[in-house]
Amino acid sequence: MNVLVVVAHPDDEVLGCGATGAALAASGHLVRACFLAAGAEARGGRPETAELSADTARAQAELGFGAPILGNFPNIRLNTVPHIELVRFIENAILESGAQVIFTHHPADLNDDHVQTVRACMAAARLFQRRTDVKPLRRLYLMEILSSTDWAFPSGSETFRADTFFEAGDVWLARKLAALRAYRGVMRPFPHPRSEEVLRALAAYRGGQSGLRSAEAFQTAFAAAVAADDLL
Ligand SMILES: [Zn+2]
Repeated sequence: MNVLVVVAHPDDEVLGCGATGAALAASGHLVRACFLAAGAEARGGRPETAELSADTARAQAELGFGAPILGNFPNIRLNTVPHIELVRFIENAILESGAQVIFTHHPADLNDDHVQTVRACMAAARLFQRRTDVKPLRRLYLMEILSSTDWAFPSGSETFRADTFFEAGDVWLARKLAALRAYRGVMRPFPHPRSEEVLRALAAYRGGQSGLRSAEAFQTAFAAAVAADDLL
């Protein structure tokens, strides 16, 4: 199964599904990240674009992901891009990757780039119902991003509700942390949410919710099965 992780920024793919994605890649699935704003413009305290590109490549290698799909939409200003342009870019990424499983942001997120990304991704994910040459979507998962989804204030949007859990054991959690460290300037000292302490604590908390030792959690937006076995 081909998997596409549609995110706004380099590092979101690691924070959201680094452990799960690494495990899927190790199982032989082709996992690729699609970044809408792959450049470093306006990234406070972050490296220059060339450094960010190098960091992004190292992180994908740590996770065992395939070649990323890089967008150059404006960082922190995705709201200035016509919705249709973001939708078309993601549709092309779905076509290029042949993805039938998509991970993306959650609509209740403090970061507006993340909100714009999931809005466009939701529309793009229906491509298979508009065109017969597109592989049907099997799963669409929404991710929680530390320092963004957890920082959202109560609003009209329904907050993140974990309903799907993946056992992120020591090996996969270590891969996630290594991939995050590949990005200069992302990890912060505790109690910032992007610290090793909070990442490990969230994995333990999601594990405790689901009867697993540690876990990454997702909210399922869509699931379709063609054989009853697929539901098991
Ligand atoms: Zn982000």
